[in-house]
Order: sequence, then structure tokens, then C-alpha cells
Amino acid sequence: MLRIQKALPNSAIAAKRAIDVLPEKRMTMKTCYMCHEPGVSKEHVPPRCIFPETKDVQENLRQNLITVPSCDLHNSQKSDDDAFLLVSLAGIIGNNSIGYRQKITKVNRALKRSAFRLLHESLSNPRIELLEYGPNQFVDVIWGTPDYDRLSTCFDRIARGLHFHHFGTKFTGRTRTLLGYTANPKANPREFQRFICEKVASELKDKPRLGANPEVFSFQFTDPDHFGLFVVHLQFYGGMDVFVGFMPADWVKPPDLVMELINLGIETIIREDGKTYIFNRKPTEQDQRTNPSEESKGENTPA
Ligand SMILES: [Zn+2]
Repeated sequence: MLRIQKALPNSAIAAKRAIDVLPEKRMTMKTCYMCHEPGVSKEHVPPRCIFPETKDVQENLRQNLITVPSCDLHNSQKSDDDAFLLVSLAGIIGNNSIGYRQKITKVNRALKRSAFRLLHESLSNPRIELLEYGPNQFVDVIWGTPDYDRLSTCFDRIARGLHFHHFGTKFTGRTRTLLGYTANPKANPREFQRFICEKVASELKDKPRLGANPEVFSFQFTDPDHFGLFVVHLQFYGGMDVFVGFMPADWVKPPDLVMELINLGIETIIREDGKTYIFNRKPTEQDQRTNPSEESKGENTPA
């Protein structure tokens, strides 16, 4: 976008042109954070919509949002996913009051606009219930099971965007998402999830919490381990934790005896930092008496 002012002498015009052009040129010279196409637009990571609007919270929680260069394809793909992420996050209980206010204002507007199609797209078996939070004071709360696969795709993109922003390079390997806020019965068995969350938490203890609006969103990167693996911890609304593991393209899965034992279904006990994790625990006689149908259901087998 060039704005040439005719009244200026030629040299001044040239100088001004250089200034005007520079940011845009810098932008187009970069490629998209997800692919090799030119980055022709900017994308917010995480999506802007998860940050409450000032009119809803009476404070500015949209300061210095992070953006990365994006191609048209990756930018246009994203708006549906953004609304999905917004509703999914709002459907998960246990966040702070900013999260609630976001839910009862912005999310309700988005749901009504979509005639509640969004709700059914985002959660299976969704229901809205009234929650009493004071004498005669109610909010409606969304319950439901999030679409884990689609959520993983959203978090993959956020993690790659943050990688690009934080390190200035594109991450080309694979990622794997672990939702710390809720037990995913399919991919993240509870014991394994607890183990990873606590292990990562101890690695992150001394790492700075980044992000200009930490009540809404903050993130931390671990250092790579000796296999080159590292993790980003995302925190939404002060209490919803998501961990995304980065597996570099040349990463070869280490022949880890412990993981092999767990995968083989052998009872394995890991003790770390004074905590005990038991995988493939054999049901005791007591368990069988009290809950005969509650076999392990693959629950302690990591995916
Ligand atoms: Zn792209």
C-alpha cells in the first residue's frame, strides 16, 4: 500500500516509499508458518476470538496478541476452527472468571448466531444446564464431550504458530497433543496423562510464562531432551492446560524399555519425584468384587 504525497520532493517521496513499503515487504518475503506459500496475511495464535472483547470484561485483554504470516489457504481454513475452539474451551468447566464471562457473553452470541449448530459440531451429547452461583443468580453452562481429533488439529496449529513466533523457524516434524484438563478416554489413558502432566510440570517450573494476557492465555516451552523432543505448555483462562509435544522430522522413537513394557500390557511401576505411577495394573480381588465390569479397557496402555 503506497501513499505518495505529491507535495514532497522526490528524495523525500523515495524515503517515505521505503518506509511505507518496508513492513509489507517484510511480510510477503516470509512464507506461511504452515507451508511454503508466501505469507500474505497475518494469523493470530491462538485465535483472537478466544480473547474477550473489552465491552464484555471492562478491561483490555487483547494487548500485544501474537501473529504469524499465513498463506490464503491456511488463513481461510481457520475461521471455522476458531469458532469450534472457542465453544470447546467454553464447554470445559474449571476455568477462571474471565473464562466464564467470555462464555456467558461472547460464546452465547456465537452460539445464537449459528442457531446452536456450533454447539453440536463442537461437542457430542452437548447439554446446557443452569448453574446457580449465588442467591437467585444463574449462568448456563455447556457440558459435553469435545471432539478430540479436531481439537488436536487446532492445538497443533497453535503450537506451530508459537514455535514460529518464539524461535523464528518453522517446525516441520509431527506434534502430539495431550489435554491436561480432561481425561480423553481414547488416546490419553489417565495414568499416562497424569505421568506426562506432572513430568512436564516439573520441567517447566523455572521457565518463564509467556504471553501478554496471561489471564486468558500463556505458554511455556521446555528445553529439548536428549532425543530432541520438547513440549509447549498452553494455558487457557488460568486453569485449562494443554501440552503439545514436538517430534522433529528426523526424530527416531527411542527404544525405551519402559514404554515397551507398558505397550506389551505388563504391569509397570514408575516412581519419579516421590510419586508413583502404575500402568497395566492387575485388578485386585477387591476390584473384581466391587466392579467386575471395570476391566482396564486399554486404559493404562499409552497410545
Ligand atoms: Zn500455508
